[in-house]
Amino acid sequence: MIIAIDGPAGSGKSTIARYLADTLGFVFMNTGSFYRGVTLAYLRAHGGGKDGSDAVHNGLDDEAAMTAFARSVPLDYREGRLYIGDEDVDVLLRSDAVEALVAPLSGIVPVRHAMNEKIRKAAEGQNIVCEGRDMTTVVFPHADYKFFLDASAEERAKRRYEQGTSSLSLAEIEQSIRERDEIDRNKKEGSLKIAEDAVYIDTSHLTIKDVCDMIISKIHL
Ligand code: C5P
Repeated sequence: MIIAIDGPAGSGKSTIARYLADTLGFVFMNTGSFYRGVTLAYLRAHGGGKDGSDAVHNGLDDEAAMTAFARSVPLDYREGRLYIGDEDVDVLLRSDAVEALVAPLSGIVPVRHAMNEKIRKAAEGQNIVCEGRDMTTVVFPHADYKFFLDASAEERAKRRYEQGTSSLSLAEIEQSIRERDEIDRNKKEGSLKIAEDAVYIDTSHLTIKDVCDMIISKIHL
């Protein structure tokens, strides 16, 4: 069974999908990690440090090279964590360097196709809760259950700030969230859209448990 959840950055998708997967005994899959993993590998390949900082590159103009690179990165997803080869890179995926490049990189259409293949392969034959931007519309259009989680930009920035993984101020995080939303909504393919048959939930004033209870009440195992 596939439960697919989409929504903008900071809408609580990851926390909720993880909690839901634990409650139902399903596998949790954060598909943003695949895009983040490729971004980290790209930054490292351009002289970046362990977390991708201080890389020197001339943008993402060469789509063919970028796509070949994306295909070649040995991404693996095990027990809710992303690996590059045998290295567990999960804690490095939210560095400022990765944050700054992941949205434009994920706007490259053939890179998306490469990621879609990797995501579908990783999900094959499992009971899974997956979350991302285009799970309900592109990657798993026939998912058994579909949800779209939303929240105001202010609330989402506050949540990211409180995670403590960024050195940016609250105002800077909000600005970067708004910029990312703009990119995510306007992607040529895989843009953030509400599927017609998805259940829409605004989480701004709800607790994680409230949202999970709402979702679980809709699911029949
Ligand atoms: O969800 P998360 O913030 O970790 O996603 C990182 C980035 O990857 C997002 O900004 C989004 O642009 C991109 N993404 C995507 N499609 C997905 C998941 C994430 O384009 N299915």
